[in-house]
Amino acid sequence: MSGGSSPRSRRSSFNSLSRDLELPSEQGCLSVIVLGASGDLAKKKTFPALFHLFAQGFIQSGEVHIFGYARSNLSDDGLRERIRGYLKGASEEHLSDFLQHIKYVSGSYDSGEGFEKLNKEISEYEKSNKSESPRRLFYLALPPSVYPSVCKMIRTYCMNPSGWTRVIVEKPFGKDLDSAEELSAQLGELFDENQLYRIDHYLGKELVQNLLVLRFANRLFLPLWNRDNIDNIQIVFREDFGTDGRGGYFDQYGYVFCLVAMEKPVSLKPEHIRDEKVKSVNPIKHDEVVLGQYEGYKDDPTVPDDSNTPTFASVVLRVHNERWEGVPFILKAGKALSSRKAEVRVQFKDVKKPGLEMATEQSELDLSYGMRYQNVKIPEAYERLILDTIRGDQQHFVRRDELKAAWQIFTPLLRDIDEGKVKSIPYQPGSRGPKEADELSERVGYMQT
Ligand code: NDP
Repeated sequence: MSGGSSPRSRRSSFNSLSRDLELPSEQGCLSVIVLGASGDLAKKKTFPALFHLFAQGFIQSGEVHIFGYARSNLSDDGLRERIRGYLKGASEEHLSDFLQHIKYVSGSYDSGEGFEKLNKEISEYEKSNKSESPRRLFYLALPPSVYPSVCKMIRTYCMNPSGWTRVIVEKPFGKDLDSAEELSAQLGELFDENQLYRIDHYLGKELVQNLLVLRFANRLFLPLWNRDNIDNIQIVFREDFGTDGRGGYFDQYGYVFCLVAMEKPVSLKPEHIRDEKVKSVNPIKHDEVVLGQYEGYKDDPTVPDDSNTPTFASVVLRVHNERWEGVPFILKAGKALSSRKAEVRVQFKDVKKPGLEMATEQSELDLSYGMRYQNVKIPEAYERLILDTIRGDQQHFVRRDELKAAWQIFTPLLRDIDEGKVKSIPYQPGSRGPKEADELSERVGYMQT
């Protein structure tokens, strides 16, 4: 990772899609403020992603400073020690250089005192750097319950007087349509949409991003991408470990679905892509849903004995427009399954030719990343998304109306699940999930190959 090639050459392989986009060049003194710096996400994802960007030269020693903020009583060294073990893949020299750029400020999330102190630290650094247009990036690695108060504090005490201020917020953005809209409204009063970056790390993944290139920039696929040629599409997120459920993945696969089903954007520029992503979809029918819960899920003492929470869901969505009429989109996601993968499968219609010797045989075009790109380091989604934020590229973040559209699709179903109108079927951990899900896929046209 710390190897010889220059940041510029690495950059080109890093972000294939943004390469041709005319993004403003972003330079100058950069403050990254990690709020909730004492927590799990910060230590496992945020700081390591910043470290990788630093080690590869995407953010540079002379221009960056990182501030950790949380309530815990830590010193600068205390925070450094806490995260050190998670910063891997570069030389010891890079590591100690990076750690020296980190400072810790302690304070609460809802009182001015801590944020005034934070602002003072940031301003002093900016002054010492003598930059004319400094940049401030706030990363909320915090439970969503404190987003509104933290955003209010940033707005009141920590806005950048000369350059930009951007705020990254982490999933979950609400738990249904109403709560998501309430959170959006609260944040919307404080920041413009172009200052807010809602992270869904699935959207930062190379696989998902390349869907756009495969679909629209590939002359072979573009004319085929419609109901005349495609029989069905499956979007699958399988995880082999178990945790809590409650719809965490419904919104997630909602976004990926939007990417697959969207119309061709005017160009691959971020705003054009985001404009085309939002689509209207028919309500989900109960007979086109299979929910599952792995056996043992209720052994967790925090889970009620009668919990109906799904840890697996297979749902058929139908888009009523000229392109997709009659093509089922089968979305499948689950925990504690036999394997771990994220996959989009497109099954084309059979082309049957007349005559005895013209039988065609179905074959698969397999673009699995693991198989094709064995020696290429695929950047972590978080690295890419932080870099995109610094560059002001919002295409891989979730816009407020997209968030609303995704929740609109799934909220009625979530309500029915809560009211016990759709039941979760038990399945064995380490299996493929309930067999009813395979039966549903077959019923709507999917052919096991
Ligand atoms: P933590 O529970 O570790 O919380 C982060 C920090 O926030 C804590 O260190 C604590 O800092 C402070 N905090 C915790 N609970 C509260 C509270 N009730 N009120 C005020 N402050 C609190 O969360 P994570 O780091 O795991 O997650 C942060 C966000 O990222 C969440 O929204 C989560 O859903 C999301 N996320 C997490 C992932 C992960 O891998 N962990 C993956 C994807 C998303 P202190 O007490 O020092 O102030």
